[in-house]
Amino acid sequence: MTADIIDKADKVIAKTYKRFPIVITRGKGCTLWDNDGHSYTDFVAGIAVCNLGHSHPKVTKALSSQADTLLHVSNLYYTIPQVELASWLIENSFADRVFFCNSGAEANEAAIKLARKYHNDNGDFSRNKIIAMEKSFHGRTMATLSATGQDKIRHGFEPLLEGFDFVEFNNIKALQNKIGASTCAVLIEPIQGEGGIRCPDPEYLKTVRQVCNDAGVLLIFDEIQTGMGRTGALFAYEHFGIEPDIMTLAKALANGLPIGAMLAKEHVAKAFGPGAHASTFGGTPIITAASLEVVKTLFEEKIIDHCKKISAYFMEKLYWLKNRHECIQDVRGLGLLLGIKLKTDGGPVVTKCMEKGFLINCIQENILRFIPPLIISKDEIDSLITCLDEILMAS
Ligand SMILES: *Cc1c(COP(=O)(O)O)cnc(C)c1O
Repeated sequence: MTADIIDKADKVIAKTYKRFPIVITRGKGCTLWDNDGHSYTDFVAGIAVCNLGHSHPKVTKALSSQADTLLHVSNLYYTIPQVELASWLIENSFADRVFFCNSGAEANEAAIKLARKYHNDNGDFSRNKIIAMEKSFHGRTMATLSATGQDKIRHGFEPLLEGFDFVEFNNIKALQNKIGASTCAVLIEPIQGEGGIRCPDPEYLKTVRQVCNDAGVLLIFDEIQTGMGRTGALFAYEHFGIEPDIMTLAKALANGLPIGAMLAKEHVAKAFGPGAHASTFGGTPIITAASLEVVKTLFEEKIIDHCKKISAYFMEKLYWLKNRHECIQDVRGLGLLLGIKLKTDGGPVVTKCMEKGFLINCIQENILRFIPPLIISKDEIDSLITCLDEILMAS
């Protein structure tokens, strides 16, 4: 019984999440089913994770056939899926080397450590400060929350780690004023996700790259949310005509299996030698075999092209909605990382959507975020728009 499961969960699971009172048991494509047989069209995708939709047959097949062969042996030995996945990522990005781990926070931890080690190896021992952005999100471990520019995430965990400075996103002057001889790296999300789907001004990231070059500072892109096709390009940096020195990935990299990756250029990556960093599970065969199938499928099934096309359609519909409803302040985002900012609390809208069979997400109290699987169809978008139109009309 659903009520019993929820009762039990509330007694035994840490209270770190405020969950919606449904128990999800099954998924296929962009549809999820709960324990009571209700279906939902999924515009959350496990928080920008399940880009290929749920239960994709190719991923299931890769997973089960690898499960039949080899799950795990550690990084004391070479394994084939890990090599193949790293090669694919390098072939399709700016990077020369990949370090695998298990989550976004861990990928950012690796990036922070690598940036410090790089300057250390170059004899620049005082270059150890990281400049991050206000309203950023980089994870929940001690280092990554110290790098996160949101008080609500940091509060209660003091003392935070030293060596993080913050400047306003989209403000070049602020960055120029802060950057200096003690700066090691600039850590930035090309589009701020959790912070409110905040897009960079047209020339901003290009200028950030230039400022970093001039100051001898590494540029780290956290593409954990924006990467793997989410914005209509494989990586968001491709939109801006620049490349970072280090990039972190996680979320959609294996369509729902836990994986993180830190990618870097050779001259930076070489600062990580044997023993400098490690992860028992990082790049383990069972996960990398699935991930390899996920990334190949992204290309084979032209998922990113679809994302780009359907994004234009979705945007148009969101603007149509904005024209009809005074309570919508703006429409924002890129690709299928989209949102509308409301002048009122978004929580009740999310609940009403769920009751009508649509899962959406609200961030920063009043921004409705739409991050569906990249295979979402026009019909599914039309149904959501009709649902939102009715809800906003009644409120
Ligand atoms: C989700 C996210 C993280 C943290 O990833 P976890 O896998 O939850 O540790 C870090 N950075 C960005 C931009 C994210 O969206």
